[in-house]
Amino acid sequence: MSRRFKLPSHKTKIVCTIGPASRSESVLRQMIKNGMSVARLNFSHGTLAEHRQDIRLIRSLSTELNRAVTILVDLPGPKIRIGRLESEPLYLKKGENLTLTTKNVLGTTRLLSVNYKDLPESVSKGSLIFLNDGFIQLRVQQVFKDEVNCKVLIGGPLLSHKGLNIPKAKINIETVTSKDLNLVDLALKEGIDTFALSFVEKAEDILKAKDFAQKKGKDIKVAAKIERVEAVKNIEEILAVSEAIMIARGDLGVQVPLEDVPLIQKRIIRQANILGRPVITATQMLESMTENTRPTRAEVADVANAILDGTDAVMLSEETAVGKYPVEAVTMMAKIASSTENNWRNIRLSLDLMNHFKNKIGRKKASIEDTVSLNVMEAMHMIKPRFILSPTKTGNTPRRISRFKPDCWILTFTGSDETSKFLAFSYGVYPFWIKNKVDNWPKTIMKFIKDLKLIKSGERLILTEGLASSPVGGTDSLRIITVQ
Ligand code: PEP
Repeated sequence: MSRRFKLPSHKTKIVCTIGPASRSESVLRQMIKNGMSVARLNFSHGTLAEHRQDIRLIRSLSTELNRAVTILVDLPGPKIRIGRLESEPLYLKKGENLTLTTKNVLGTTRLLSVNYKDLPESVSKGSLIFLNDGFIQLRVQQVFKDEVNCKVLIGGPLLSHKGLNIPKAKINIETVTSKDLNLVDLALKEGIDTFALSFVEKAEDILKAKDFAQKKGKDIKVAAKIERVEAVKNIEEILAVSEAIMIARGDLGVQVPLEDVPLIQKRIIRQANILGRPVITATQMLESMTENTRPTRAEVADVANAILDGTDAVMLSEETAVGKYPVEAVTMMAKIASSTENNWRNIRLSLDLMNHFKNKIGRKKASIEDTVSLNVMEAMHMIKPRFILSPTKTGNTPRRISRFKPDCWILTFTGSDETSKFLAFSYGVYPFWIKNKVDNWPKTIMKFIKDLKLIKSGERLILTEGLASSPVGGTDSLRIITVQ
């Protein structure tokens, strides 16, 4: 069978948040065609019926367009939010008095409801309260049993259900809430196995969600959202138990001094790269495109710099969820990614990471996968292959190659739908799910890519293989193949 197939123009993965602006079939189709690899369903917003409808539509469009699209369910976690507003947007004015109540009321410029019953215990006179990722700031004047009176220090427009942060306060809500676990259950029933966990503090939080799913007979993959000071401090133990990391710069920029965010981003990306965990850099990447057809220069530079830092994926939030130009935002993201990757003459990052493995980790710690991935890179620099082909059970080997950001695509082939879906987060990996039983992987792969017309005779390829028999994974070697 001969099929036409074209790889995307960019290797950085684009995660798009789905919402009212992008839930229609025509917009979603355009977003997939223009470069979306992962659809993020933010379970903090929208109804269950809407999420189900989104899941169905994304899956059917992914099949129709022959494009792998992975669904990521983002769980709300213990995020404190204001309630619904009487009218939107509501404009809060500097100097005005505003009461926050733990009762459920429709919000006005004088009274806002908050979904956290211990709010009065968590603040005291003089505390600062931030709304909407810090764009609006309040100072506490008086605290009552179920109300907190504040003065507006910095005003601005406010929408329903926006987040509320109290920097440095002790929040009495469990990190992974019972609501989160119920949502995991619902998503598992829809066949979803990849979750973003909000406001994690420590490894235990991730393990709690995983244990819950395991009791239901399912293994889930977790992208830990790094948005708390504690998570930044505990990043090593969090990385050790998470399959991916999201640098959630919205809340992070309220919890830590805003000016610290860029360096935290760089440091976490490097740590995740070393471990071969995909990293998503998130929030306000092309924020001005919620209203405009073109982003600011600074936003374009932000996306490009995250790619140069070594991020695997870049994320669109409000731009695609509620913005006026969701398709244009994805298209712009893809263009910035493609230009940055193609003009990336600075291979310092990849060489620096390779040197880390050559010189720093020592004989005892060097795993077979680390060694094979490093050798794939050395071979790639020498022979400049058309593709790196990587049959895989768990995705470990291609993820380890991906962290070095090779110039050519890594095509992965796996019998596992779950492995294939999760590889959608990794830079430069195009995953193929091979549904039929395979006896001879190299032969099957070569036929597969020939059918897709991805290779021409005389071209060279690198193939990773497991020659020793091993129950899981087991990639232990590489081969250089010349297409006949
Ligand atoms: C963030 O805070 O940057 C983020 C991605 O989380 P959310 O959109 O859930 O607030």
